[in-house]
Amino acid sequence: MLVLKRNHLTSEDLIKAEHVIRKVSLGKLSGLGIDFDVWSWTRAELYGIVVGVFSRLDLLEVLKISQSQLLDFIVDIDRGYISTPYHSFLHAADVFIMTFNLVSYSHVQGYLIDLDLVALLIGALCHDIGHPGLNNLYQVNSKNELAQRYNNESVLEKFSCDETLKLLRKHSLLKYVQTKSNLEIQDHSQGAYVQNAIVKCIMSTDMSVHFGLIEQFTTVVDILTVSPINEEFHEAEYLKEHSSGSYPLPQTGHRQIICNVLLHAADISNTVRPWELCKRWSDVILDEFFFQGDMEKLNNLPISPNMDREHSNQTDISLKFGDFVVKPFFEVLADFCPEVQPLLTNLCENRTRWLSLDNTEPPRRLLTGNNNPSRLSVPAGTLDIPDLPPLPSVLRRHSTDIERKTRRHHLVNIAELTDVELSEPPGEYSKSGLVNIPPSISEVEEEGEEALCYLQAEDISRRANRRSFSLDHTLLLAKKKRFEEAVKSLSTLHEVSSELDNYS
Ligand code: AMP
Ligand code: ZN
Repeated sequence: MLVLKRNHLTSEDLIKAEHVIRKVSLGKLSGLGIDFDVWSWTRAELYGIVVGVFSRLDLLEVLKISQSQLLDFIVDIDRGYISTPYHSFLHAADVFIMTFNLVSYSHVQGYLIDLDLVALLIGALCHDIGHPGLNNLYQVNSKNELAQRYNNESVLEKFSCDETLKLLRKHSLLKYVQTKSNLEIQDHSQGAYVQNAIVKCIMSTDMSVHFGLIEQFTTVVDILTVSPINEEFHEAEYLKEHSSGSYPLPQTGHRQIICNVLLHAADISNTVRPWELCKRWSDVILDEFFFQGDMEKLNNLPISPNMDREHSNQTDISLKFGDFVVKPFFEVLADFCPEVQPLLTNLCENRTRWLSLDNTEPPRRLLTGNNNPSRLSVPAGTLDIPDLPPLPSVLRRHSTDIERKTRRHHLVNIAELTDVELSEPPGEYSKSGLVNIPPSISEVEEEGEEALCYLQAEDISRRANRRSFSLDHTLLLAKKKRFEEAVKSLSTLHEVSSELDNYS
């Protein structure tokens, strides 16, 4: 029986929540996938879902708290959210479930420890707590007390962090937290480790760090997916290391970046959901944007991009956000986590739906009018698009003999373990491992050609990276005797490999 100390729920609600907790912890509640429709659940059910997820992932044992204590904390989080059109507790619950989906239905959980999961999920639930429905730009332009308190930087994220820390203290939520992993937490108590990770997760939901996060993540993915290529490299050792069925644990900073990316991905995921949900979230976020535009007019402040209800268009806003913000982010995530690929397919389908909704031409002036092609204006503010990164190391590493031999070896292993007949002899795959690196930029005279060539190189490397991951992932599934999944994963591999062959 659930008992709350600090909040009140009716006994009917407590019974409802308890029922849902039981179902979720047994994995028996449907509707928690990417089709999660937050509007179709009562508040008590939502609370039950959140507690149930912690229980399902065995995190109550890590936090060393009861279901009732967690429920009490969650009710307080709900009370901390303002009932705005978009940034309400419903958005928090939605982001929480999408975070859960990203970690539990991909292999990425294998890279994290239980304390990271605790931080990530609490971060997801609290990341917009106290959001007034008027964004950072508004806070700064109106020179209000909040903006001054936080020095005009990441104002709302810092505010949400402070509100979260207050609630964590109020509920002594991290007082007894103890990891079940073997990792020694250095320099910190485990509570401080989780608290620090929560703050970093929340801070990374600031849209102004979006592109920086992509860069950081690309580096981490490179480090995690590349085997050491040097003269000392021994294939046998490499295989031994990776055949235990688990991944080598990334260092703390890299695990933090993975968490930041997962939370940010969940935060902008409404665009990659089935169309009905995508449209509904867009409707409510536009209500909030236009309200901000109205407030800006009223207070003689500069009207934020796309927030003027007289001059904004939903299709235009959605395509711009999807094409320039969401797509590159999920593409990088899908390189690491092929399980995310269906979300990119949804984005593409939603794009068609947006266009068919609106007969006007697709947006022409997508970039700001100041002729600076590296600045993009979206409702979140003006984002700096970084220069294209240097060619990722994947282009180099796939063309080495050692790597090709190892990969071939992997494939033979997979084929043996899974009893799957490869449609091409494994040796053929080494061909796809050799990526034709396009001529270097200095060799290309024309500016247009240069850009095209560079984009092509980037595209090839992205696919190569995906293939490299698919191989490791397939092997891992096979080692774990999850053969059906391994077979499925093999088909991704075939797909990506043939894409690559088209380039070489
Ligand atoms: P957050 O404010 O933490 O939820 O950060 C996500 C930001 O992404 C939002 O503030 C919006 O600026 C932007 N965003 C999310 N979903 C959409 C959408 N469907 N259309 C346009 N912008 C969006
Ligand atoms: Zn959010």
